[in-house]
Amino acid sequence: MQDIEQVDALVIGAGVVGLAVARALALAGREVMVLERESAIGTGTSSRNSEVIHAGIYYPAGSLKASLCVQGRVALYAYCAERGVAHRRCGKLIVATTPSQLEALPAILEKARNNGVTDLQLLSRDEAKRLEPELECLGAVHSPSTGIVDSHALMLAYQGDLEQAGGLVACRSGVDSMVVSPRGIEVRCLDGTRLVARSVVNAAGLSACDLARRVRGLDPLHVPRAWYAKGNYFTLSGRAPFSRLIYPAPEPDRHLAGLGVHLTIDLGGQAKFGPDVQWTDSPDDLVVDVSRAAGFQAEVRRYWPGLPEDALQPGYAGVRPKISGPDDPAADFLIQGPAVHGVPGLVNLFGIESPGLTSSLAIADRVVALL
Ligand SMILES: Cc1cc2nc3c(=O)[nH]c(=O)nc-3n(C[C@H](O)[C@H](O)[C@H](O)COP(=O)(O)OP(=O)(O)OC[C@H]3O[C@@H](n4cnc5c(N)ncnc54)[C@H](O)[C@@H]3O)c2cc1C
Repeated sequence: MQDIEQVDALVIGAGVVGLAVARALALAGREVMVLERESAIGTGTSSRNSEVIHAGIYYPAGSLKASLCVQGRVALYAYCAERGVAHRRCGKLIVATTPSQLEALPAILEKARNNGVTDLQLLSRDEAKRLEPELECLGAVHSPSTGIVDSHALMLAYQGDLEQAGGLVACRSGVDSMVVSPRGIEVRCLDGTRLVARSVVNAAGLSACDLARRVRGLDPLHVPRAWYAKGNYFTLSGRAPFSRLIYPAPEPDRHLAGLGVHLTIDLGGQAKFGPDVQWTDSPDDLVVDVSRAAGFQAEVRRYWPGLPEDALQPGYAGVRPKISGPDDPAADFLIQGPAVHGVPGLVNLFGIESPGLTSSLAIADRVVALL
């Protein structure tokens, strides 16, 4: 009979969440191996996002997104400062450009307060323009604790901590399927390798639902349907005249799958606009839809009328790993442990879209607690 290697804990997927989970398990004294399908860490959604450290404003009160974002944000700033990960607490403005958006601004403060975000300030048009003279708006909300982070440096720091604690990342180690057995969870890799683990964390991002369906012994009723919503980004040629992130205020009646076409700045000063929301059938649909440039330009000009003609260049796209469709209410993070599905040692992470980067350390703590 083929000898199958025994390991204590396996994490599938070396994105920012998988690495944070693996790090936390290793720091808790577990022997940890991360299995990553690609040839490097962080090539999935973790390198195709806005790199924003979210304050935790919009998520429904009591949701995991709300609580883990706030906890994760506090932990992330402390971690970045301690480990020298590049980041900046630059703040953001949520801007109203229509009377109905203006009317809805106080409700944003209220919603944020319910989530424990107590530092928002309501600004008049003049106050907002004093902060960002090129901005046009009727009023705004200032969120001083929103920031940006170098997500790749963050992942390298998580990996460093993991390795320091005795764990390892195995790249080019795609997982094909799993079988629940009395010895533990048998993990079958695409290259034929087999491992048996006491604990397995499925942090496969866009593939997490698909992979969970290939776990023999897990009732597929516990696996949600995967939906994919692409976010296109356009970059600005030239420097943006803003030092804070600029987000349009949500339209009160609009069902939101994203946060509107906003302006973010990376640590190198490059400005980008996006992401929008484009539902797609494929998690690999990563080509920017250039036909959207005109729509972006119109949306951006509502708050930045000075946007020069033809200044938007196709940037990149990321796909949100959603577990609710276009007509459903937005789903929460689904962190599913043995108490729900009955398989000892297995945790599935489904629907870890935004604010997953911000929440990564808090998600990791929750997974450790479940195991
Ligand atoms: C457009 C967009 C903008 C966003 N903006 C922000 C933001 O500003 N702030 C924020 O907090 N969050 C943001 N997010 C969310 C954030 O990017 C994600 O929550 C986070 O990156 C998810 O990390 P992950 O590790 O779960 O997934 P991924 O980064 O997708 O990692 C999953 C890994 O699993 C690997 N994998 C898949 N299948 C297998 C297999 N069978 N075997 C082995 N390995 C496998 C993949 O190769 C991949 O490396 C955004 C997301 C999108 C799409």
